[in-house]
Amino acid sequence: MMRQFELVERVKSYDPTADEDAINRAYVYAMKMHGSQLRASGDPYFSHPIEVAGILTKYRLDSSSIITALLHDTIEDTPATQAEIERLFGVEIGRLVDGVTKLNRIELQSDHAKQAENLRKLVLAMSEDIRVLLVKLADRVHNMRTLNYIKNPEKRRRIALETMEIYAPLAERIGMQELKMELEDLAFSELHADARGSIVQRLSFLREQGGDLIGRILEELRKTFADAGVKAAVSGREKTPYSIWLKMRKMNVGFEQLSDIMAFRIVVDSIEDCYRALGVIHSRYPMVPNRFKDYISTPKPNGYRSLHTGVFGPERHRIEVQIRTQEMHEVAELGVAAHWNYKQGGGKITDGRQYRWMRELLDILEHASNPEEFLEHTKLEMFQDQVFCFTPKGDLISLPRGACPVDFAYAVHSVVGDTCVGAKINGRIMPLRTQLGNGDQVDIITSKAQTPNPTWERFVVTGKARARIRRYIRTQQRAQYTDLGRAILVRGFRHEGYDFAEKALDGVLRIFKAATVDDLLALVGEGTLTAREVISTVFPELKARSQIDNVVALKARHAKPADRKDRANAVPIKGLIPGMAMHFAACCHPLPGDRIVGIVATGKGVTIHTIDCENLEQFSDQPERWLDLSWDDSDGNIHLGRIDLVVSNEPGALGAVSTVIAKNVGNITNLKITNRNQDFFEMLIDIEVRDVRHLTNIIAALRAMPAINSVERARN
Ligand code: MN
Repeated sequence: MMRQFELVERVKSYDPTADEDAINRAYVYAMKMHGSQLRASGDPYFSHPIEVAGILTKYRLDSSSIITALLHDTIEDTPATQAEIERLFGVEIGRLVDGVTKLNRIELQSDHAKQAENLRKLVLAMSEDIRVLLVKLADRVHNMRTLNYIKNPEKRRRIALETMEIYAPLAERIGMQELKMELEDLAFSELHADARGSIVQRLSFLREQGGDLIGRILEELRKTFADAGVKAAVSGREKTPYSIWLKMRKMNVGFEQLSDIMAFRIVVDSIEDCYRALGVIHSRYPMVPNRFKDYISTPKPNGYRSLHTGVFGPERHRIEVQIRTQEMHEVAELGVAAHWNYKQGGGKITDGRQYRWMRELLDILEHASNPEEFLEHTKLEMFQDQVFCFTPKGDLISLPRGACPVDFAYAVHSVVGDTCVGAKINGRIMPLRTQLGNGDQVDIITSKAQTPNPTWERFVVTGKARARIRRYIRTQQRAQYTDLGRAILVRGFRHEGYDFAEKALDGVLRIFKAATVDDLLALVGEGTLTAREVISTVFPELKARSQIDNVVALKARHAKPADRKDRANAVPIKGLIPGMAMHFAACCHPLPGDRIVGIVATGKGVTIHTIDCENLEQFSDQPERWLDLSWDDSDGNIHLGRIDLVVSNEPGALGAVSTVIAKNVGNITNLKITNRNQDFFEMLIDIEVRDVRHLTNIIAALRAMPAINSVERARN
């Protein structure tokens, strides 16, 4: 285990301004907190955060990163709290440790490799500070190095898979080649121990056979460059077992046929020298076709730059050659960390924003391929347009930002969306319109009786949710129009002394350009066709007669309310939903219990008015548009009632009004002051009520108040 002073010395060796005191305090604090906890290896738990910090010193990270590494498991595994860490080590460290802790929690939830890409994005999105990700990667490296101590093979496999699919690619994405290769090779030996074993065996056999082959090739290459007058540092290595295995799989060859297991690296002073060195290699050795790649003129998205080629080199061995400058080399090995070192320029920048560029860098790595943009970019945020949430089973669902549980439900499955009635977010019941955040676990509550609610359309953001809701509304609307059309025709037929039969309509479908009887009924229901037109076409002999009504007679308006039996033909309506074939008039706000009448509006369905609404006057000469309606007794919906209120202008009057309404279980949804003077306020109040009785009770209660001058149901 690295000692306290060793760690401090290592950090100070590359950053003399490092906060030595804080590192010391963090070391002691973590040691105290982890106390006697043990690792699976039997080592004190505390050895783990120290190793993680040690790994980061290799990348010359700042003292905040090192301190975060020391503290990274304290919130999760010890009594330490974020508040305490903030108090002891400051807000920045608190935020960084919290970030790593959050990443660890994601890990616990997910074991679904198929969603690797989304998980990678989630990890990136949650690593708001690149240092969080760097600590996380170092944490993973150490856990992988000690993976063999974990007894449960399932768990080992899960961790290795996660490393292979999430963390190694992330390391690559931010350009940390060395870290990536170590993660891959460690995961490889867990996941394919046999394959790795035989590759390693074969490599050592070749090594014995060839003697110091790499050494001899190195020597010849060095001489070649010296002869050509190019200053170059040449190094060589065997490829890692994992990269050999990948190549074997990709090229579908056996290990015996795979010949280029050696890679050589040539580091030169300048870009010009890179191309000169390439010329030297190509003029001296035959090229292997299709192996030349110029990543200097076209860098990889993660900023990697080098020339790659393959040749039949010394002793006719196939070798791979990479040519790069020292700077390119550091970027290739250290990735983001290398840039950070350049940029930091001796730790002079202290305004706390010094790491923002790292985030931006990540962003650019993600989206751009032009390395010129690397350090210049300013205002992009990573994945700002997305949120990532979990199902209770740990599946990851990626949604556009602003998405709500209904979007989530539809993303899981359209049936889940259609039947969703509620949602638990992180274990708590939340409204369906709640905006989801990164890492939220969303549990959708469904009910078979539920159908899509048209009001959802106002707050969903995904196309899928919107399309499903609209489709549902259309089908519902169509069903309502069809029912309505049938009811209208039944009345119309009866009026003329016929029994309605759908068969009777078959013969006239063509005339009205309707494909089916239902289509024709819908046309009548939505008011595009009148009952008169249909009936007079079905029974041409009726044409002669002057008037055919499909309506409740006008006289109904002023007549006493008919008793139920007489009104048996009235079309029953339930509480209506916006967007449907029938809707309530805004002028009179009908409530269950009111006598009501419908006015057919061409192409728009039916508007429902109370029978005494003044606006009905304008339809008095169009009896064919009138439709008798009745309330469906099973209606249990909430309706909107509107009252017109004049109240004295005195302190507390308004409060008293809303108290009385609330006491009577009315919910105020809107309030509009229409007139005010020194003595009185006149206002309109919209109240959600069950029916007309409910509203009448509220009005009665209001009338009993001394401050109330008058209160009426609003009719305009
Ligand atoms: Mn850890």
